[in-house]
Amino acid sequence: MKLSKYIVTSSYNDKVLLFSTLSRTIIALPIKYKEYIEKKADLTLIFNESETSYLVKHNFLVDKNQNETEEVLKGFKEYQKKQDSDVYELQITPSANCQLGCDYCGQKHTKQKIEPFNEAKILSHIEKRINTLGSKYLSVQWYGAEPLTAMTSIRSISSKISEFCKQNSVTYMSNIITNGVLLTEPVFFELTAMNVTRFQITIDGNKNEHDKRRFLKNGGGSFDRIFSNLLSICKSTFLTQMFIL
Ligand code: SF4
Repeated sequence: MKLSKYIVTSSYNDKVLLFSTLSRTIIALPIKYKEYIEKKADLTLIFNESETSYLVKHNFLVDKNQNETEEVLKGFKEYQKKQDSDVYELQITPSANCQLGCDYCGQKHTKQKIEPFNEAKILSHIEKRINTLGSKYLSVQWYGAEPLTAMTSIRSISSKISEFCKQNSVTYMSNIITNGVLLTEPVFFELTAMNVTRFQITIDGNKNEHDKRRFLKNGGGSFDRIFSNLLSICKSTFLTQMFIL
């Protein structure tokens, strides 16, 4: 057994906290186990059978040979197949690049972006799917690598999609998964004007823990920059909901 790569750890007083991003479960262990966890030692040596089975059930421990990244990607593809026909959901990856080099990232980053001629193909795909499914809603998720490294493509594609939806009485909604590094206040407002109503920004624990895992490729942590972007957005707008997981 090995510790899942999708665990975020943090210390609080005399406890070490483990959060499984797959099962969304958090456990608190005595601080004496911190060293085992940092060294990624075999935790089955310190837990009894029923504790081990709890940890396996909630994705803290996985089989030594398990390829977790492959399984996450497979689960994601299965989720995509189960789409409600009333709402056509589409994920667009405008950039294959990212400024961060997170230790658990399963992607290969390149400088590739969507070429303008491919924008027409995306539009034609949306048109065909909406007509076939008879969908009344279109939901686009901007996803990456890091989508905000291709803001020009997001602008251009968004404006074409909005125009198409207006002409075809389709309600357009959008959301983005971003690392938050480029999510400055002006970018946030520009995105909201393009119908982006939900922002999912990953912060892996406190500054210390986050910077250990989500560091900039050119050196240094990313926590301060992301946190300062979020603070300035919170100060200048009225957010209806903010979830911190
Ligand atoms: S921010 Fe996302 S895409 Fe970029 S390195 Fe981290 S996990 Fe990978």
